[in-house]
Amino acid sequence: MRKDTIAAISTGMTNSGIGIVRISGPEAFEVIDRIYRGKDRLLEAESHTIHYGYVKDKQETVDEVLVMLMRAPRTFTGEDTVEINCHGGNYVVKRVLETVIRNGARPAEPGEFTKRAFLNGKMDLSQAEAVIDVITSKNEYALQSSMSQLKGNIRNKIEDIRNKIIYQTAFIETALDDPEHIDIDGYSEKLKYVIDDILVDIRKLIDSSDSGRIMKEGIQTVIAGKPNAGKSSLLNVLSGRERAIVTDIEGTTRDALEEQIQMGGLTLNMVDTAGIRETDDIIEKMGVDKARDYVKNADLIIYVADASRPLDKNDEDIIQLTVGKKCIILLNKSDLKTVVTKEILQNTIERVFEKTKNAGNYSKDIPMIDISAKEEQGIQEFEEILKTMFLKGEISFNDQVYITNIRQKAALQDACESLNKVIESIENQMPEDFCSIDLMDAYESLGSITGETIGEDLVNEIFSKFCMGK
Ligand code: GDP
Repeated sequence: MRKDTIAAISTGMTNSGIGIVRISGPEAFEVIDRIYRGKDRLLEAESHTIHYGYVKDKQETVDEVLVMLMRAPRTFTGEDTVEINCHGGNYVVKRVLETVIRNGARPAEPGEFTKRAFLNGKMDLSQAEAVIDVITSKNEYALQSSMSQLKGNIRNKIEDIRNKIIYQTAFIETALDDPEHIDIDGYSEKLKYVIDDILVDIRKLIDSSDSGRIMKEGIQTVIAGKPNAGKSSLLNVLSGRERAIVTDIEGTTRDALEEQIQMGGLTLNMVDTAGIRETDDIIEKMGVDKARDYVKNADLIIYVADASRPLDKNDEDIIQLTVGKKCIILLNKSDLKTVVTKEILQNTIERVFEKTKNAGNYSKDIPMIDISAKEEQGIQEFEEILKTMFLKGEISFNDQVYITNIRQKAALQDACESLNKVIESIENQMPEDFCSIDLMDAYESLGSITGETIGEDLVNEIFSKFCMGK
C-alpha cells in the first residue's frame, strides 16, 4: 500500500465562494504546518479542529484560509487528513494546491482518496462506488438509492448471502474430511433448500437492476404525436416546471441530443425538441420508419393525441409503434371542445392492434390521461402514472436494495450461474465436492461486489473513473 501524502482540489473548477484543497497521508500535518501561518502551530493541534489563518508560499501570502484538521483513523481515507478552505476562484485554488505540492504532497490521481478509504478498510467496494453515484445522481431516486448503498445496504445483503454459502461449504469440507463423525447422508436435500432460497434473493437483486437503471440513468423517452398535437408545448411545460434544476446540470444543454426532464423524482431523457420536430417531418414525409428507430431503444413512448381533431392515419401509425412498448397516452387540448374521447381512442387501439402482426400478445390497456398543455392540467396525474409504471409505486430505500451498477449485476449473474450448477449437481446426485467447487465460485463472484476478491488492476480501473479530488 502506498504511504505517500496526496493532495487535490476537491471542489469544482469554477469561480465560486469557497474552494477546498484536500491533503491525505502520513505527512499531511507536516505539509500544512510548513505553509500555514496563524495563531496555533498545526503540528500539535488537536484532531477535528478548525483554524483560521493564511497560506504562505515562502514570504508571499497566497490566501486567507480555514484549515480543518482530522487525524487518522477517524477520517474519510483513514489517514491523517487536512482540508484547506480557501477562496473559490479558479486561480487562487490552484495556487494553494501548488503550494501544498511544493511542500511535500504529490498530486492525487482521480478517485485516489476514495481508493485509499477502500484499501484502508473504511468502506467496501460497493460503498466506494456509491460515493461516485451520489456525486453524479441526477434525481431524487438516484440519490436515495446511492445513499442506501453508501450506508452499506448492498454490502450487508451480499455478506449475508456469502455467509450462508461459506457455512455450507465449510460443512461439506469438514464432513468429507471427517466422515466418521459427520454424517452427510440426506444433506443434499437440505443444501438444495438453502440454495433455492439464496437464488431467490439473488434474482431479486438482479431484477431490481431494471428499476436501478431507470433511477440512475433515466427513462429513455420518445414523444410522438402528429404535427400540432402539442408535443413542444408539453415539453415546455414539463421542462419549465423544474427549469432551475434542469438548466443547472451540465450536459443538459441544447447541444445534447436529449433533453432531460425531471418528473416525480424520475429523469426522462427525451429526444431533443429539435429532433422531435424533425420526427414530425419524417412522419409526414417518410412515414414512420425513422420514428421506429427512436422507438426501438425507448423505455417509454408518450403519445400526445390531439383531442380537438379527429384521429387520422398519423395517429394509427403512432399507435402501431406503441405495440409491445410501455406507453402513456396524453389526450391533449382538453380545454377545447374535444372530439376524441377515451372510448374512441380505445376502439382505434383495438382495431390497429388487431391488424398488426403479433400485437395480440401485448396488452391493449394503455393508460390515458386528459391533459391541457396550455393550461397545465393533468400533469400531476401523468406524474403518478409514470411512477406506478416504472417504480411500481412502491420504492423504498430502507429494506429494498437496488442494483444500479453493471459490474455488480454481472457478478450477481455469475453467482446465479454457479448456484444453478450446484442445484444441477444435487439433482444428478453428484458427489458433494462438486457442489463445493461451484459454491466457492459463487462465493468469489459475490465477493467481487464488496471488493474482497478482486485484483489490483480492477480496483485501479474502477477508481480511475472517479472525479479528481474524490
Ligand atoms: P407540436 O407540433 O406537436 O409540437 O405542437 P405545438 O406544441 O407546437 O402546438 C401546436 C399548437 O397547438 C400551438 O398553437 C399550441 O399553442 C396549441 N396547443 C398546444 N397544446 C394546447 C392545449 O392544451 N390547448 C390548446 N387550446 N392549444 C394547445
